[in-house]
Amino acid sequence: MSNSSLPPGVAWVPVETALDRLRAATRPVPEVETVPLLQAGGRVLAAPLHAARANPPAANAAVDGYGFAHASLGPAPHALALLSGRAAAGAPYTGAVPPGYALRILTGALLPAGADTVLIEELVTPDADAIHFERTPRPRANTRPAGEDVGEGAEILPEGRRLAPQDLALAAAAGLGALAVCRRLRVAVLSTGDELRAPGTPAAPHQTYDANRPMLLDILRRWDMIPVDLGHAPDSAEAVSAALDRGAAEADAILTSGGASAGDEDHVSAVLKARGALETWRIAVKPGRPLAIGRWQGRPVFGLPGNPVAAFVCTLVFARPALLRLAGAPWDIPRGLTLPAAFAKAKHGGRREYLRARLDASGAVEVFASEGSGRISGLAWARGLVELEDGPRTIRPGDPVRYLPFADFGL
Ligand code: AMP
Ligand code: MG
Repeated sequence: MSNSSLPPGVAWVPVETALDRLRAATRPVPEVETVPLLQAGGRVLAAPLHAARANPPAANAAVDGYGFAHASLGPAPHALALLSGRAAAGAPYTGAVPPGYALRILTGALLPAGADTVLIEELVTPDADAIHFERTPRPRANTRPAGEDVGEGAEILPEGRRLAPQDLALAAAAGLGALAVCRRLRVAVLSTGDELRAPGTPAAPHQTYDANRPMLLDILRRWDMIPVDLGHAPDSAEAVSAALDRGAAEADAILTSGGASAGDEDHVSAVLKARGALETWRIAVKPGRPLAIGRWQGRPVFGLPGNPVAAFVCTLVFARPALLRLAGAPWDIPRGLTLPAAFAKAKHGGRREYLRARLDASGAVEVFASEGSGRISGLAWARGLVELEDGPRTIRPGDPVRYLPFADFGL
């Protein structure tokens, strides 16, 4: 790569290639379970969902008013004799509406036999035993035919769908009370480094609070996965191997942070290499060097960088699509939005860049003042990322940039 911002002499894997490899290597964990609809939010459908009954199951009224047979209307103005009784939601009228008669009917009530049209009450002048109205309504006005929304047996949601609240409404309306979903994915999280201390405990200046573990465990919860906390391992091949063994025994996939580079104390990449299980390394992404993707006892391992900003970005960009696919969802990369930049920047070619970003008051994209990847405060400031393509680019204020809201990553 000429004019590259990367050290020469090694083969850097483009982000797109790394994602293609991950996609090809990732198959859903096959176990399926049935859960009550009320507990199914956030779960992944294991099979397409079909309506157990139509919605609505029978024709009903869309407004409060009066129901009658359209064919029995003569020329306007109209007068229809009023039946006693009424049809209400949950309390159908058991008789029939004869030609020339109308029945009081409320929203959601089944249309009684003989009625096919409803006139909204505001257009009607009622008296003791008749209703009067000026204009002739359309046939079937203000009614909802059976199956208008969903036909019986129709596919209402696809396999792999992560169930949103509105999906639960649809499934409930279509008569379903329990759903076949994929087992929740178990994902282990390990921090590595001799310098690490648990949050909230005493630490000397040469020690670093473990910021990655609380962040990664919470990200997994938000993706409706089961986090498995492996704690932290010191910088030794034995300790890292033992922790990975535990992770492989207890989880479907493992996220580690730290020790993924090529230095003396980088034991995650070292043990993955020693086992011949390092699949992708040296990805051309900023922030993100080093990132090691491999397997331990067949389980995918994401060897994230120790730096919390880089660990966060790599988790969203690389681990998320793979983990959701393992969990049974389709492969999904957020499309993002194209919005005007509120910043200027010149970028070299050679690697893809992600900047901490958020929208300003005018809806343009601003980026965190410092690109220094040690600035965890920038992560908390941001509401999304700007993605800059692999090639060189000069951005001036107002130029279009790709903005990926954290919400599109499920955060
Ligand atoms: P490494 O990738 O192990 O070389 O670590 C890169 C930097 O990230 C070093 O400054 C580490 O101290 C720091 N770091 C590693 N793991 C964590 C963690 N869990 N929380 C906060 N900082 C970390
Ligand atoms: Mg380290």
